Formats: sequence, C-alpha cells, structure tokens
Amino acid sequence: MLWPGIKKIGKELNFKQTNSEAAGIVKNCFVKLYDGHNMKIMEIYTPQMDGDDKNAIIKKIESNNIKSYEWPANGIKIIFQEILRPYPVKKIKMIMEEIVNYFNIKYPSQKPQCQHCGQQDATDMYGINNFTLYTCNDCYRQTQRNIKNDNEEQDNKKGNYLMGFTGAILFSIPGILAAILFFIFFQTLAAASAVVYIILGIIGYKKFNGKISPIGAAVVISAGLIMVGLGTTIAYSANILYLLYNELGEIQLDTMLYFLKIPEIQRELGLNLLTAYLVSCIYFIIQLNVMLKDWKSRKSITILKEIK
Ligand SMILES: [Zn+2]
Repeated sequence: MLWPGIKKIGKELNFKQTNSEAAGIVKNCFVKLYDGHNMKIMEIYTPQMDGDDKNAIIKKIESNNIKSYEWPANGIKIIFQEILRPYPVKKIKMIMEEIVNYFNIKYPSQKPQCQHCGQQDATDMYGINNFTLYTCNDCYRQTQRNIKNDNEEQDNKKGNYLMGFTGAILFSIPGILAAILFFIFFQTLAAASAVVYIILGIIGYKKFNGKISPIGAAVVISAGLIMVGLGTTIAYSANILYLLYNELGEIQLDTMLYFLKIPEIQRELGLNLLTAYLVSCIYFIIQLNVMLKDWKSRKSITILKEIK
C-alpha cells in the first residue's frame, strides 16, 4: 500500500501511483517515492548527469545530514532513515526541489530520459506490477512483449503440485528430529519446529519441481500443517520413551503403549498439539502472505493511476 506520508507528497505534486510507489515528472526529472523498512526512499532520474552534477548532489544531500544514497543509471536514490518517527515529508520535498531545480537550470532544454534506452521523446510513466517506470513508446512495447513471453513461459512451465507436496513432506522429515531434540532438551516443543518445517518444505517443494504459484504456496503450508501434527506427536512420544528409559533402564513396547493411553499423558499431548498449532498457524499466515507476494506468477505493465 501507499503509506500516508508518501501519499501526501504525491498528491501535492500531482503524482500518479501503483500500489506501493508514487511517481511523477517534476520539471525535467522523473521522481519516484516509496516506503521501505524504517525508511522512505526517493529516486530522481535526471536528463543527464556527469561527475560535477554528482558532486553537486552529494553536497546538497550531505548538508542535509543524509548519508545513505546510491547511484542507479542517470539517477540518484536517496534513503531517508526513519528511527522511531517518520522522516518529515516537508524535508523530503525540499531536498527534491533543490535537486530538480539544479538540473532544470543546468539542462533547461532537456527532458527526462527513457529508463531503458535513454532517449527523451515519446516517453510516459508505467507500472510493472507495483514498480513504477519511465520509458519511451518503443521500450514500452518491447517490455509488454517480454512480459507476455515471461507469463506464457511461466504458465507452460512444467511443475506439479502433487510432486511438490511429496517433496515438501519428505524434506520436512528431518525437522521431526529437531522437534524431538527440542522436547528432550527444553521440555517443550516449541512451535519453533514450525519454522523448520516451512524452510525444509520450501526446499523440498522446489527440488521436486513443484509449480511456483499461489496454489503452490498453499501446498507448502498444508504440508507444514501435517508435519506440525505428526512431528509433535512423534516428538512427544519420543520424549516419554526417553523419560521411561531413564527411569526403568529398559523399555518394552507394552509399557510404552500403556503409558501413551494414560489420560494425563494424552491430555498433555493434546495441549502440546494445540500450542504447536496455535503458534505455527500465526507463523504460517505470515509466511503465506510473503510467499503469495513472491510467488505471484503473472506480471503486467499498466498505465499509472491518479493518487486517490
Ligand atoms: Zn526507450
């Protein structure tokens, strides 16, 4: 989503937006703004940029106490760190104006360049999914063709949910060992094992050629849910076995089965299962969100919308 601070500057400047970036033309520069983790980011793409221009920009931003910046082709990316409170929107706008004015005075007859080929004619702003882009007509058409091919390739890619599921389960099995160790050493399971099942599950899913798609993400999570139940039960039983062995010095199947039928033991297992599911469900929901974003297979290029 577009966060309020970015939305506010974007609106003031008549920018357009994707779901997470605001972008627009200011004088002869293409400017984009978005949020990061504890930071706001501004990228300014200029009509031209040489060593002197770079030095002039460095002077301007360093005099504003900004130490974090990068140089994408024909542009600058400024990172406004936010510790505890949001970086003042006014200050971002002021720094942007200083830089844009500098380029407007230095290269008055030039326009912003296509980010792909550098030419300055027949250009417009587009969004590729959430990412904003400034390109010329030709590059737009080329990008559109590439995206179409990529999507078709993705759709035709062989990959199988059942095999992926099998892979996720098989690769998660060593996770049970981790669960057993957790039980024996910490007397609790710790839903930490849920994390292990997902990490191993994703590796297994990919190794077994599972299809990378939103359904695939749900398949990995389902395998994880099965493994949490199975792993907790096995680990808990192993823990009982371990305790009995310490107590009796030997162990027989009959004794083991007898113990597992005791209501208190069953209740404790139930409680462990419940905790493991509660904690892992929270983690799975977070993880599913991340995977849905990453594994969304279709790309598209669109014209930017007005900021609402
Ligand atoms: Zn171009």
